[in-house]
Amino acid sequence: MRHYTQFYIDGAWVDPVTPQTAEVINPATEAVSGTIALGSPADVDRAVAAARRAFAGWSVSTVAERLDLLRTIQGVYTRRMQELGEAVTEEMGAPIALGTGFHVGLGAGHLQTAIEVLESFRFEEQRGPTLLRREPIGVCGLITPWNWPLNQVTVKVFPALATGCTSVLKPPQLAPYSAQILAEILHEAGVPAGVFNMVQGQGSVIGAALSRHPDVDMISFTGSEPVGVQISKDAADTVKRVGLELGGKSAWIVLDDEDLAANVAAATGGMMVNAGQTCSAGSRLLVPKARMAEALAAARDAANGVAVGDPLGEVGMGPVVSKGQWNVVQDYIRKGIEEGAELIAGGPGRPEGLDKGFYCKPTVFKASNNMVIAREEIFGPVLVIIGYDDTDHAVEIANDSPFGLGGYVSGRDREAAIALARRMRTGAIWVNGGFDFHAPFGGYKRSGNGREWGEHGFHEYLEVKSIIG
Ligand code: NDP
Repeated sequence: MRHYTQFYIDGAWVDPVTPQTAEVINPATEAVSGTIALGSPADVDRAVAAARRAFAGWSVSTVAERLDLLRTIQGVYTRRMQELGEAVTEEMGAPIALGTGFHVGLGAGHLQTAIEVLESFRFEEQRGPTLLRREPIGVCGLITPWNWPLNQVTVKVFPALATGCTSVLKPPQLAPYSAQILAEILHEAGVPAGVFNMVQGQGSVIGAALSRHPDVDMISFTGSEPVGVQISKDAADTVKRVGLELGGKSAWIVLDDEDLAANVAAATGGMMVNAGQTCSAGSRLLVPKARMAEALAAARDAANGVAVGDPLGEVGMGPVVSKGQWNVVQDYIRKGIEEGAELIAGGPGRPEGLDKGFYCKPTVFKASNNMVIAREEIFGPVLVIIGYDDTDHAVEIANDSPFGLGGYVSGRDREAAIALARRMRTGAIWVNGGFDFHAPFGGYKRSGNGREWGEHGFHEYLEVKSIIG
């Protein structure tokens, strides 16, 4: 059992102003795995005051000092990676190999990337008569979700640190453990008092207090669209910058020149990673209509081949994060059946043999793009397959979405695939795979307005000043 009943404020672990705790549930067992403290606006005031005091010094620290600190953090982070991964598995149910592998690796990658960007970042440049300066924006409120908990925290905390900002982190109630360990890592590495602070608690209390706080200069938020809208409204009265990374319903287009079965299998497997709780997941798979039967057979085999079970075992998929999320996924599966989508694999209920834990069946539908299951983000292991007539039609379907976060194109003719990617209205498109920590990540349309990762992630935390003459 884990008991995290203190917050990290001003370089020390402190008791909440008003003691209150909440239980954390292990989604694989439905048992209580520990407790966290729930903060109040008074805790936010303390954390923001500490961050404000620290900003005076940290904002004028040198690049060399910040690089030193990031490298020290890297040493401690590396030593505690196994522990971080185990915490991710316990808090949100990712298979242990994924938790100790990709989840933790993403954090390590963002840290290394922050170091690389900082090594050559131009905080000042002369442009004609103007000296252009990029200065830290100030005190940042960082509000994160549970789905890739360590990724979301590290993609905010490290760029904030690297640019000379100070911050107050509000981790998700459902997955608070990895953030707690990260705070311990930052403390051990010697982050100066007040530069990083963390208050756990309810979004509607802690997140809202940060968003409204007159002494917070910027909010970086990752999560759902309704909460992003609420934060923007709360932040409006104090005219603070708000960076939003929201949901998605990304299309994966398999072109006709490809090995259809292999790509459909890869896309189906990809959808089930992290139990489908990935904002950039390729949740709409677009295949040539004429080859639909072949695609459905490949998707059925791939979905049925995903081993679901105890995340501490050798499985491909663990549970979804909570009972609430399980209900959401079940409602969408029922909705898909009701609206006439053809169920290809999976379906309602738990997989056979699993009667405890928030497990879902890897599910595939053949659907049309106007169905609810093709328009709304399900955030669970549910793939919809949609047929297209020709590439123009494929692009039309891909762009016919309220979201614009990610996209995928598989095609042997690389130029043709990239030409298609150019026409897709989303923030990132993966052509025949690939991965890049320096590639900006963020959405068009209802998927948000910011760009994290790499150098673009730094700009989120910087003001631009012109010194003319
Ligand atoms: P939520 O939006 O419900 O919560 C995200 C965070 O916001 C949590 O820490 C939550 O606190 C907090 N919060 C809740 N209400 C408020 C409020 N009124 N003011 C301020 N903060 C608040 O999202 P989920 O945690 O359910 O995450 C899933 C969503 O995140 C999906 O829609 C997904 O697509 C999106 N997402 C987007 C990504 C991107 O990069 N574009 C990446 C990952 C996820 P609490 O702990 O109390 O819930």
